[in-house]
Amino acid sequence: DYISAIPEESDMYLNTSSTIKLRVPDDDDCQEAMLLKNLYLSCDPYMRGVKHSDEAASSTLEDRIVFFATDKPITGYGVAKVLESANPKFKQGDLVWGMTGWEEYSIITATDSLFKIHNTDVPLSYYTGILGMPGMTAYAGFYEVCSPKKGETVYVSAASGAVGQLVGQFAKLSGCYVVGSAGTKEKVDLLKKKFGFDGAFNYREEPDLDAALKRFFPEGIDIYFENVGGKMLDAVLPNMRVHGRIAVCGMISQYNLEQPEGVHNLMHLVIKQARMEGFLVFNYYHLYGKFLEMVLPAIKEGKITYVEDVVEGLESAPAALIGLFAGRNVGKQVVLVSRE
Ligand code: NDP
Repeated sequence: DYISAIPEESDMYLNTSSTIKLRVPDDDDCQEAMLLKNLYLSCDPYMRGVKHSDEAASSTLEDRIVFFATDKPITGYGVAKVLESANPKFKQGDLVWGMTGWEEYSIITATDSLFKIHNTDVPLSYYTGILGMPGMTAYAGFYEVCSPKKGETVYVSAASGAVGQLVGQFAKLSGCYVVGSAGTKEKVDLLKKKFGFDGAFNYREEPDLDAALKRFFPEGIDIYFENVGGKMLDAVLPNMRVHGRIAVCGMISQYNLEQPEGVHNLMHLVIKQARMEGFLVFNYYHLYGKFLEMVLPAIKEGKITYVEDVVEGLESAPAALIGLFAGRNVGKQVVLVSRE
């Protein structure tokens, strides 16, 4: 029911007769408004930490992600079809990915956070994952933050997820030795058999994480791609090699805790002269074109593969989002809203 999604105070209205018309008032905010039909929505861990605020209709992409507006559908990444556009950069029928709403139809005024989809010979849902925000996260975090070199040792936590499965494959393409951890046997098998990790383990079945890491990295870890934080980070720190790099992508084990766990082994950064650097994907979208040039051919040539966990229907979205924090997703969690 897209009509209920329109803010009451808005000057925009929909003519719901045979054709849908979006009338855009002479208001700066709405000059470039578009009516979208949402096809796929993305469930992402960052959404757990998003705050609710009436001031959410803000200008920057970062602010739109940090705040959900109260009494409006929550926002998130998705893939959509343009039904009407007042923005000269997009036309009716275009496919886009970027920030949209958890609803069937969305009116988007902040079109700067939408990318036009030019390549449709891959599954459209990939633009919520490998060809969208998580793909860019893996690319920026691994290549830009970690500066990998051939022969280095790489460890990835939450390795079968939207970001982790790609980091592992990028590491292999770079000639590195890569090991991943995940929370079930099925995921560990995926890491080894589907994504080509050199080794993998189920962290839930390891009573001693330090011993597990020493088993796979007897000479230490050059690059740690951090997705989970907490006890895992503490176990990794003493296993880092001299001049190692830790890309702090996320700390999902902490997102549901009222009190974050303490990290005790930070002194090892000094001893190993290692670098630990957080990063946010928003600051790397200028590399999107370069990223596509690398990833699209790799997908088509079968050099990179991607596993998705697709649930059907908008009504399935909340449970799918919550499921991320219990590890219920196997691969990138996507919600199919409409096939066309
Ligand atoms: P995933 O697809 O990996 O899904 C989350 C996975 O995290 C779950 O499937 C589960 O896998 C694992 N997990 C959940 N709870 C815990 C826990 N308590 N301890 C250990 N593992 C847990 O998510 P994404 O790939 O989308 O995101 C991975 C990380 O990247 C997150 O921390 C996210 O916040 C971060 N991120 C950061 C960005 C940035 O710009 N810095 C952008 C995008 C993501 P399992 O069964 O293996 O435990």
